[in-house]
Amino acid sequence: MIRADRLFVGIRELATVAGPPGPRAGPAAADLGRVEDAALAVADGKIAWVGPRRRARTEVRVARGASPVELGEVCVLPGFVDAHTHVLFAGHRAAELPLKLAGRSYGDIAAAGGGLFSTVRATRAATDVTLRRAALARLRGMLRGGTTSAEVKSGYALTVAGELRLLRLVPGLARASGLRLVPTFLGAHAVPPEFEGRADAYIDLLIESALPIIAKERLARFCDVFCEPGFFTVAQSGRLLRAALALGLGAKIHADEFVATGGARLAATLHARSADHLLDAPRDDYAALAAAGVVAVLLPITPFASLAAAASPGRALVDAGVPVALGTDLSPNAWTESMGIVLSHAVYDARLTPAEALVAATANAAEASGIGDVAGQLAPGRPADFLTFATTSLEEIPYRVGAVPAEIYRQGKADFSR
Ligand code: ZN
Repeated sequence: MIRADRLFVGIRELATVAGPPGPRAGPAAADLGRVEDAALAVADGKIAWVGPRRRARTEVRVARGASPVELGEVCVLPGFVDAHTHVLFAGHRAAELPLKLAGRSYGDIAAAGGGLFSTVRATRAATDVTLRRAALARLRGMLRGGTTSAEVKSGYALTVAGELRLLRLVPGLARASGLRLVPTFLGAHAVPPEFEGRADAYIDLLIESALPIIAKERLARFCDVFCEPGFFTVAQSGRLLRAALALGLGAKIHADEFVATGGARLAATLHARSADHLLDAPRDDYAALAAAGVVAVLLPITPFASLAAAASPGRALVDAGVPVALGTDLSPNAWTESMGIVLSHAVYDARLTPAEALVAATANAAEASGIGDVAGQLAPGRPADFLTFATTSLEEIPYRVGAVPAEIYRQGKADFSR
């Protein structure tokens, strides 16, 4: 008999998304671990038991006086993991939207000193209090949409001290929001104006002055780089990521978003944790990503918000055996806090099946973020972070564009109960 504090019932379908460690590819990429007419037992904020309701009577003993909690014929799945965010920034770029509508690209706008560089100016000028308040509001928005864990990148300071300042805000934001946050160092988001034409010197600075402090103080789990023409070359990206790997950080890369530069191939060579965007990655490189176990992080809101013709190549990546994960890419360029919206675009634009999209937003996003052992699955011993949706099937969640959870439970307790 398993002892529990609370037993949740009234679950039409529950996705455990449980499985062995490592990212899911092939048939496992669509395996939700579905339990129909399910029950979920929680003890000390962790999952004690999960299975069909009829078995709970004989397998679970609930604390004296506690009656089962009726969830109301909902579908249940693990809290979403947002595998790619730039949540640490000041200001917004709403004024850019008309420029985008007039046909200007992200690269054009950045080259003219706008875009990313206007956010860099605003972020450098912002106080810690302002930055913390702005990021916390976004994190709370993410939580309302069902995100309980997220990767968070630096990258809008582009100085050593400024990037370290951003990373040092992350633990306090995690405490204040209750989200599990995974910090990533993205000092190489762009070449700062002070280093114009001297990208190699800037990479040297990051390697010599930033990475050792980040590794020593454990300020980030991963190092990321924006590998695109006008930003950093494959050689510069490789140099930075190799230095990070040597210090024990994981590697991530913004790869082949605008054009194919060899970013995906570099990710495979380095056995990076993830290669993100991949809109223009050559199909020939998919096999290398699959063989190296690199997770392809799909960010389908980015081409949508960039008014790009291309869609995230989700279907082709899954068919090639590459594990895929999902993220918002929350940034001033592609501002969504909602993994529900991302799930729908993953299906309607990137052509994942609803089941594949749900695995990509949970178990595989946790793997892409280095937290596969604690997030993305509902299995005994793991934190009881789960969502309820007022739908009749799990597949109905991505089908409903931008679906919002009915309730969000963290460590077995409800937030925002309705
Ligand atoms: Zn990004």
